Amino acid sequence: MMRRTRLTKCLNFNMMIVINKKKNTLMKKFFKVLWSIVLYIWQLPQNLASLVVRLVYKGEKKRKICGITVYYLPSFPGGISLGNTIMVGSQSEFTARHEHGHQIQSKWLGPLYLIVIGIPSLIWAGIYDTDLIPYTHNGYYKFYTESSADKLGHVNRK
Ligand SMILES: [Zn+2]
Repeated sequence: MMRRTRLTKCLNFNMMIVINKKKNTLMKKFFKVLWSIVLYIWQLPQNLASLVVRLVYKGEKKRKICGITVYYLPSFPGGISLGNTIMVGSQSEFTARHEHGHQIQSKWLGPLYLIVIGIPSLIWAGIYDTDLIPYTHNGYYKFYTESSADKLGHVNRK
């Protein structure tokens, strides 16, 4: 009688642990989804811009480079990071990590990303390697938007 009761209590206790683990897993999933929604809204301007870019450049293929999800399209000029989306024209590890650095900037800056990083970076890409700013070895990555992305993406250029 005593033994059966103890066994029942143990079973109940073990079942409670299983139920609590399931609840915790559900809660974790819930907060993960909630967090991704909050992040999407926080980065809304660049997430909307990425939809436009992906509409213009069709046919990209989703790839994972060093655990970083990128959209790869050989005809895409260079790389761009807009919120959740990274578009690249090469499958280079450096490019993926550099763009991931821009992704981290985007998460930090949210709605300010395009003003602080995106637009200056586009202007820099337009004037670099011209009469205005002549080419130097790795000179492109010395501009603050790019050196910061390299640092955050753990890219060491030589
Ligand atoms: Zn960059």
